[in-house]
Amino acid sequence: MLSIEQLPRVQTPYYIYDTALLQRTLDAIHAETRDHDNWHVHYAVKANAHPDILRQIAAAGFGADCVSGGEVQAALAAGFPASEIVFAGVGKADWEIRNALKAGIAMFNVESLEELEVIHEIATLLNTRARVSFRINPDVGAHTHAHITTGKAENKFGIAKEDMVHVIRQAQQMQRIDFMGLHFHIGSQLLEMDDFAALCTRVNEMQDELEAAGLRANNINVGGGLGVDYQDPDAHPVPNFKAYFQTFTRGLKLREGQQLHFELGRAVVAQMGSLITRCLYVKQAKVKKFAIVDAGFTDLIRPAFYGAYHKVENLTAATRGEGEPTLYDVVGPICESSDVFVTDYSMPATRRGDLIALRSAGAYGEIMASGYNCRPLPKGYLME
Ligand SMILES: *Cc1c(COP(=O)(O)O)cnc(C)c1O
Repeated sequence: MLSIEQLPRVQTPYYIYDTALLQRTLDAIHAETRDHDNWHVHYAVKANAHPDILRQIAAAGFGADCVSGGEVQAALAAGFPASEIVFAGVGKADWEIRNALKAGIAMFNVESLEELEVIHEIATLLNTRARVSFRINPDVGAHTHAHITTGKAENKFGIAKEDMVHVIRQAQQMQRIDFMGLHFHIGSQLLEMDDFAALCTRVNEMQDELEAAGLRANNINVGGGLGVDYQDPDAHPVPNFKAYFQTFTRGLKLREGQQLHFELGRAVVAQMGSLITRCLYVKQAKVKKFAIVDAGFTDLIRPAFYGAYHKVENLTAATRGEGEPTLYDVVGPICESSDVFVTDYSMPATRRGDLIALRSAGAYGEIMASGYNCRPLPKGYLME
């Protein structure tokens, strides 16, 4: 549980980031990966691009996985070396490709033949070379919310596995393109290691197919997706990186000299962040009691967007140490019925003015905030 003494006295709602927990998390990843010289862990910037958080992750020696030109810019500004930045995404605009080439990023993860042709054109105009991996849609299902699976044949992501050999041959005929390897990403908030094991099996099959065609990939990128414990963040503040990385050690048959890339987002930053909000009103309606708070889905969209769960803690009531638990719907002020964080949620008796924390909000929280209803964007602060 968070304690009120750790919080800055600033206007709610805001995000608070526990940088000591972030450091523990980064250290845990290092502990599981440092014996593998050919492994590279990249941080998926889209999960949280707060400048101080990015700087801390860059300083710990991680690379960056970006999905827009803005993210490439943010990663460079935070101190990630260009040689450790990869750029993925189904819809890269020309200016984004141009800027990434000028910055000299490590590689593009290319998602279609159409995109490859544009990257080649721009590299030719700039008189430079583009290093590319191909994102292959592995057609592997994953046990997570339908909005966050990405590796099924019907998803918009990647190149169909049947087209892999063809696109690589096309790339090899382009003078300004260097083919680097294969990229995969099957989804997010995955807690079943079997999903990653299934990915390993598919990657091995794709490698066999490459070899049969006389081709070779220097890089294998298995994406991100490791989940966190939203139910009980204090029981599992650091995800089970041992089980995650072991799945790949056991399952993947890497070829001589191959480099293996990981791209973790949520697992790195989710648990170190909380959204802090204040209770504005406790409204007794006909069938329900509403705790109306000053944060809404403009600040944290995951519950409204994915039906996601965040643990809710009344920090002030905890210090009062009184009151029978009561069921509340904790809702925001936005003029949409979906602006609900939790329903029928048991909390100690809650009053106007109480500070409330929505836990595990470090990933896909602040970064997804919007200005709907002309609301100011929430700020992120580091814990004292
Ligand atoms: C979002 C994303 C990631 C990170 O996903 P997490 O579930 O946050 O680990 C990694 N790679 C790609 C290509 C992504 O789009």
